[in-house]
Amino acid sequence: MNMTLRYLLAVFGVVITVHYVLSFTHTDYRRATSLNSLTSHFKGVTPADITPIPDRYYPPFSNESLTVDHRANATFVILARNSDIDGTVRSIREIEDRFNRRFRYPYVFLNEESFSDDFKKRVSVLSAAKMEFGTIPRDHWYQPSSIDEKKADAGRNRMVEQGIIYGGSLSYRNMCRFNSGFFFRHPLMEKYRWYWRIEPDVHFHCDIRFDPFVYMEENNKVYAFTIAMYEFEKTIPSLWSHVKDFIKLHPEYLAKDNAMRFLSDTGGDTYNLCHFWSNFEIADMSFWRGEAYTKFFEYLDDKGGFYYERWGDAPVHSIAAALFAPSSQIQFFDQIGYEHNPYTHCPRNEDTWKEEKCTCDPKRNFDYDGYSCMSKWDQV
Ligand code: GDP
Ligand code: MN
Repeated sequence: MNMTLRYLLAVFGVVITVHYVLSFTHTDYRRATSLNSLTSHFKGVTPADITPIPDRYYPPFSNESLTVDHRANATFVILARNSDIDGTVRSIREIEDRFNRRFRYPYVFLNEESFSDDFKKRVSVLSAAKMEFGTIPRDHWYQPSSIDEKKADAGRNRMVEQGIIYGGSLSYRNMCRFNSGFFFRHPLMEKYRWYWRIEPDVHFHCDIRFDPFVYMEENNKVYAFTIAMYEFEKTIPSLWSHVKDFIKLHPEYLAKDNAMRFLSDTGGDTYNLCHFWSNFEIADMSFWRGEAYTKFFEYLDDKGGFYYERWGDAPVHSIAAALFAPSSQIQFFDQIGYEHNPYTHCPRNEDTWKEEKCTCDPKRNFDYDGYSCMSKWDQV
């Protein structure tokens, strides 16, 4: 080895030694010169203060989902805009923690526009379950050409004057019509029988350690709810008269032991405005896809009330479930603590509330609120 090389190696050795000594004695120096922080200048991501926690601090995790051997042919369905990402993430995180990390049901996300890469990226880290992202066919979403736009516009203006929530919104009407008649016909939904509808920014207040889909399948249920309430009459002024006309036309669709008493205090003459709050729904799509509901939706859609008025998917679904299915096929899940602003269902059963570690205040349970239709349901 020649002298120059020897000299260079010695200098290098000293520099390395000093670096190590400083690294052990000066935390700041260590942070500033770590490989991570040096490379972070190029990636622009890893800040120098983030020291990784060594693997030995992470105890092994046994994957609970492996213990579930029987699942239903079911999916979560989430309709959302790209701008709904933060609330969507929060809802998924809660349903995963409370339920789906054990069951791993898949998710279908639907939107009339294509989902952004950011949306897909942020939801995909939340679950090991399959996630699919679908765009809604145009004719399942937008106002059909059969609608008289002048009349629809006048209807919206009237509702704005009356101060009705979403009264002037066209997109809200598209959404209600889509949720009434189309979500279960989306190509990504076709392969499933059961769905659980979830919205951005809802809360699941209790552990859900049973499988509601399997329960419903084995007990012959078609529709499940957690909150029932009164609809704003001004959003559906003509809906009930069309329902009555439809029943006259198709008396064969009325179920024998239906829940008309939930909907009407006058034996079917007038609508009492009670409905299941459809932002939470677990249901059997073969019911929506079946003949009675298909004809019912087409009949209502033809009347144009989704646009001329502001018919919600909640009363439309509820009226159909209450009339075309026997009441025994409609399930109220006291066990599922659920909140969609401003209302919360908190389990009435105290053992459930304790055992499932609920975060809701039982005193604030909407079931007992004057605006709730739960007492009507209890009579059915
Ligand atoms: P509210 O619960 O009746 O106040 O209505 P929301 O604003 O929560 O809407 C109901 C659901 O439809 C939520 O899941 C929203 O994310 C979704 N939604 C509402 N409007 C639109 C829209 O224009 N496009 C899409 N893709 N989703 C929508
Ligand atoms: Mn909502």
